[in-house]
Order: sequence, then C-alpha cells, then structure tokens
Amino acid sequence: MSDATAPNNFLQNIIANDLDTGKHQNIVTRFPPEPNGYLHIGHAKSIVLNFSLAQSFNGQCNLRFDDTNPEKESQEYVDSIKRDVTWLGYQWAGDIRFTSDYFDQLHAWAVHLIKSGLAYVCDLSPDQAREYRGTLTSPGTNSPYRDRTIDENLELFERMRNGEFNEGSCALRAKIDMASPNMNMRDPILYRIKKVVHHHTGDKWCIYPSYDFAHGQSDAIEGITHSICTLEFADHRPLYEWFLANLPVPTKPVQYEFGRLNLNYTVTSKRKLRALVDGNHVEGWDDPRMPTISGMRRRGVTPAALRKFCEMIGVTKSDGVVDVAMLEHAIRDDLDKNAPRAMCVLKPLKVTLTNLAPDHEEWVTAPGHPQRDDMPTRSLPITQSVYIDKEDFRVEANKKYKRLVLGKRVRLRNAYVIEAEDCVVDAQGEVIEVKARVIENTIGNDPEDGIKPKGVIQWVSATKHATFKVRLYDRLFNCESPDADEDFTQHLNPNSLEVLEDCVGEIGLLNAIPESAYQFEREGYFCRDNASSELIFNRTIGLRDVWENKG
Ligand code: ATP
Ligand code: MG
Repeated sequence: MSDATAPNNFLQNIIANDLDTGKHQNIVTRFPPEPNGYLHIGHAKSIVLNFSLAQSFNGQCNLRFDDTNPEKESQEYVDSIKRDVTWLGYQWAGDIRFTSDYFDQLHAWAVHLIKSGLAYVCDLSPDQAREYRGTLTSPGTNSPYRDRTIDENLELFERMRNGEFNEGSCALRAKIDMASPNMNMRDPILYRIKKVVHHHTGDKWCIYPSYDFAHGQSDAIEGITHSICTLEFADHRPLYEWFLANLPVPTKPVQYEFGRLNLNYTVTSKRKLRALVDGNHVEGWDDPRMPTISGMRRRGVTPAALRKFCEMIGVTKSDGVVDVAMLEHAIRDDLDKNAPRAMCVLKPLKVTLTNLAPDHEEWVTAPGHPQRDDMPTRSLPITQSVYIDKEDFRVEANKKYKRLVLGKRVRLRNAYVIEAEDCVVDAQGEVIEVKARVIENTIGNDPEDGIKPKGVIQWVSATKHATFKVRLYDRLFNCESPDADEDFTQHLNPNSLEVLEDCVGEIGLLNAIPESAYQFEREGYFCRDNASSELIFNRTIGLRDVWENKG
C-alpha cells in the first residue's frame, strides 16, 4: 500500500514532532465507530487517516466499538464494521475492543469523582435539566441537588446501579461550572439509567456512561497517543481534558480534530442512511446506490480506489463539501487501469453472417487489457449468428453515425469487418434481425477492396455466450445538497436504478467472480453482484462523467 507516501497533513506534522521531541516512543491511534449502523464513505476517511498514520509511523491503530448506547446498537453492525475495515485493507492491532469492556473501570472512576467531590447524583428531570442548563448567551443555574454530600452521592449512585430508580429519574453529573461559556462544561452527564440489555454485556448494567465520560478514558486505558476525531468535538475537548486531569488514568491522550467529509449528491449520516433502509427507498444497507462501504463494494468500487480518494481529499481543520465527481474519478481511474476488458451487448440484435456455414466456429484472441500484458487474453468464438446492440444498427443514418448501416461496413471488435445486406422487420417496424456478409481476410487487416469500415462495435456469439441481468445505477440523489431540506427523500433520483434483462456477454463471463470488475467495452465498468447466485452485473460507473454538463 502506498499510504506511507501520502502527502503531509497537519496530523503527520504533529506526530513527527512528538516522536522527534521524545514525547512518545510509539504512536497509537484508534478508529472508534458506534455499532449503530453500517459504515459510510465519511467513516472511510477516518479509517484511512487513523490506520495510515499508524502505518507510516510504525505505530498501531486499534478498532474500538464505542458501544455506550445499547438501544441502537447490535451485533449485526459490529460484524459489518469489522468486515468493512478488513476489506478496506487494514488490520487493527490485537483484538477488537469495546468501550463496554471498560465499564467496570469507568464505573470505578465515576466513584472516584464522587469521592473527590467532583460528581453528584441529580434528580432533575431531563426537561428541568435543560432549563437549568441555560443557553449559549445566558449562564446556567446550579442544580438544587448539586450540594449533596459525598456519602449521599455514593449511596444514590450505588442504588442507581442496583436498578432501584426509574429511567430518567436521576443521573450522575460532573460538578464543573454551570456558568461556563462552553455548554459542555455545565455539569455534563456521566451516567444515565437505561434498563436495556446490551449486545455485549447482557444485563450486567442498567446504568450506562455518556459518550463524553467514556471516550477519553477508553483512550487512556488503551494508551492512545493521538485521539483523532471530527470538528464537532472541538468544543468537547476541554471536558475530555478535565476528565484526564481529575482521574488517575494510566496515560494522557490528546484529542485532535479534523474536518469531516461531506460529499455533494450524497448523505453521510447513519441516521439518514437508516431512514433510507427503513423507508424501503433502497434494498438495504448494501444497496449498490448507498454511500456505505458495503454498498460501494457491492457496486464494484475497489478498496484501492477508496483509499486513493481519501488521500486525494486530504485532511484539513475545516469542513467543506467535496464534489462526488472526485470520488467517481478515483473509481474510474482505478478500474481503467485494473479491470480486464470484456464485450457485452445490453440490447441484443441478431446478426446472421450469411457467408458463414451454420456450424462455423472460429476462435479469435483478444487482449485482457490494452495496456496490460500481464492479464490473460480472451478467446472469442465467431459463429454464424452473433448479437450486436440494437443501438449499433440503423437502416439509414448520416455520416456522424459510426456504426452499422444497411449497405455499409463496420468492424466487429477483434474480429471481421462485416457489411449489412438486408434486415428483417417485425409488424411494428422494428428491426429484429440483420443479415450481413463477412469480408474475408479482415481479421487484423483492412478490406482488400479498399472500402473501409465506418467504426468498431462490440458483439457476442449468439450460440456461445453468457446471458445475464444488468443493473444500471445512477446517483441516488438528483440534487447537490439533499441534506439541505428536512425531507431529504424528496430529492431521490427516480432513475437511480434501471434493470435490463437478457443481456449477453462473452462466454468467459460465466466464470466471473463476485465483486471482480470488468470494463464492458463501450458500456462502462461492471462487476458481478455478490448477493445473488444468479448471474447479475452491477454497473459501477460509466466510462465518462455524464453529469458534468447537467448543471
Ligand atoms: P454519523 O454522523 O454518520 O452517525 P458518527 O460520527 O456518529 O457518524 P461514529 O460511529 O461515531 O459515527 O464514527 C466513528 C468515527 O468516524 C468517528 O471518529 C467519527 O468522527 C468518524 N466519522 C464519522 N463520519 C465522518 C465523516 N463524514 N467524515 C470523517 N469522519 C467521520
Ligand atoms: Mg458519533
């Protein structure tokens, strides 16, 4: 992997400096997803950043499930996240970790804060607590429960833990500063009562730590040196540091923030992606139109293309919107270099080659890839009848049409030049068969009579081929910022999926491996669907950007 040579970003400079000055001997980063949905392209940016920083400095990167909200989390999501990180090409250090592995320690640290007079059990209802909190422009008010004694707090917290109180009736809060200009410092919640079974700890707990209380301390337990998160956590940093300063933690990680990835024509929020799944707007989290890692994988996007994209967009300290055309460029570029070529005909039209015998079978060889000698060549049978695309034949056409026209010539790619002599038309006037003549001795040569073909088209033997379904995908949203309105589903592109039945392709496609990519010549990049035993090809992306001029 070439990540070690990625251009410098501000985090690399910070880490290089920390190693130079001897602040750290080794660096440890982590990727900390909450298992409440499938990972999306935004997470890919965070994964690539955390793992490649660790790689380029010979450090380690942990995978930690930030599982403090049992209501929304599940094992299905844990499994999908592990699969996605592995597929992207990264290996986490040691075993996977769970914040819930640290619940005993976190609980002990909560007790420590109570004993230090820095935490109290507060009986304000959630609504009251909100009122007491104040606003951005006005200070909050101290809770009437703020001055409970240490002993009283220890007892109440123990009773919370034992399940004696109802959800929402009380919470453990840090005692910091209700007048702080930073709302996060106004006595934030450390523990809430949630009488729910946890996918990892079962029914052991009925109180759960808040994200803020769990995150930094989990970093400290794991010896994370650089805790990298997105910008919206910048305001939480003082709190992150307050916990580390007031607890006997084994190490002192430092939090750094970077700008999250936003992509136009795309939503990158698990909540919204879940709404698409739950509302049956897509077929699931791995629907090839989804910006999830599993969706992109099923669509035929390669891990190398995603890593490359993440390198291209860089890492900055401000938020911005990246043009999805950049992602598409990275995908196309990778596939152009690495996808073997194949011929397919999406809308077959039969062509009978009148001067070949009915049992004619002649095999020609085609390159696997025009620039890659390392790819195996393909063998293609020429038979008396072949299929070409309906779009590639016209009875009459002007000079701009470089395909087959009645009475004119075209080259069948990698094979003969043919000349259309006649066609069969059905009752509706539609051409259902073309009769054409093979011009002899034209494989690799121009016709001897000097009459050149108009163009080159793809073809497939009508008797020896693969038959399959093709799914043509387009962008899921038809507007640049679908997130701008509350109801982002109104911007769904109604034409994001078109299914073509009875497509045909060269015979080798019968052995296509799921997820492996092909360039179907003149049609685009496709891969075999990984979720169906039937032969189905998903279009990853077209050969060119068709959105460029749509404004
Ligand atoms: P979402 O907003 O989609 O729910 P999240 O931030 O809640 O995402 P987490 O599972 O908490 O999802 O995220 C795991 C890690 O991925 C966090 O460190 C988070 O900052 C990072 N991350 C999430 N979304 C993006 C994004 N769009 N760009 C970069 N990093 C992201
Ligand atoms: Mg989050």
